[in-house]
Amino acid sequence: MAYNTNHNNNFVEIYAIGNELLVGQVLDTNTHWLIRNITAAGAQVRRTAMIRDDYDDIGEQLLAAIARQPKLIITTGGLGPTDDDMTYRAVARALNLEQYEDAYAIEMIRQRYEYLATVRPNFDPSLTESRRKMALFPRGAEILANGAGAAPAMALAVGASILVCLPGVPVEMKDIYATSLQPVLARTIGTGGYVERNIILDKGDESRIAPVLLAAQASHGTVYIKSRGQMVEGTQRLTVVLSRGGNDLATVRNSVIMAEAEVVAGLEALGYGILKVVE
Ligand code: AMP
Ligand code: MG
Repeated sequence: MAYNTNHNNNFVEIYAIGNELLVGQVLDTNTHWLIRNITAAGAQVRRTAMIRDDYDDIGEQLLAAIARQPKLIITTGGLGPTDDDMTYRAVARALNLEQYEDAYAIEMIRQRYEYLATVRPNFDPSLTESRRKMALFPRGAEILANGAGAAPAMALAVGASILVCLPGVPVEMKDIYATSLQPVLARTIGTGGYVERNIILDKGDESRIAPVLLAAQASHGTVYIKSRGQMVEGTQRLTVVLSRGGNDLATVRNSVIMAEAEVVAGLEALGYGILKVVE
């Protein structure tokens, strides 16, 4: 048996929305950041994609994601005041939900622009139609405060999943993730953990160690075992990485340590030395 990529049912899908991503003007760093944080919390990211600012494309991806029933579907991008920012409208259309102007969100947006007027000269804080657009939510949305920008985010229960829409601006996305999204994360993916152990070898040649990794992977299907070349303190080294996430950190750690013992014994039998193990 190979690595069982489905062993963790606590799974997440991430969709980065924005034309700028798909013409190469902006690199999708949001997805990478979210993957690292969700993995660290013990859940598993199973699928990601970049989507254009297009109602049909966004709707199609959302409906397909909902059908797979992940715990969380996270989107980033498309919450701003301009016409091409259309995530909430696309969600409302795809799910047949009415859009409404949320009073709480309006108040957040008003406060944000009033604050900006105090720090920027000649700044008009009035609630223009473009600004009000950021308060148009699909019915059922739970509004999430944005401490670093104007556009509030949202969480929405859909089928077996919670859909979370975050802004595209990285500082805003990270601010919301760290603050107003935390209660949503606690009740969806929970607060598990992730263990990663890097076994750094004294010699190279992945092809020689392949049978050892194959055998260990066969008996430890929940642990991801992967060799890779890696720079360690200025020298190119062959490293074997063992990792697993999950809700019960003791179980997770135990399974990684057991797999590691088998890998180390197999490598030593082949004449490899272990320079060090880094967690
Ligand atoms: P938006 O929320 O769609 O208006 O995005 C605002 C800005 O955030 C964009 O112009 C990009 O500079 C940046 N941005 C959007 N999506 C991403 C992403 N996936 N990764 C990194 N930066 C992004
Ligand atoms: Mg955009």
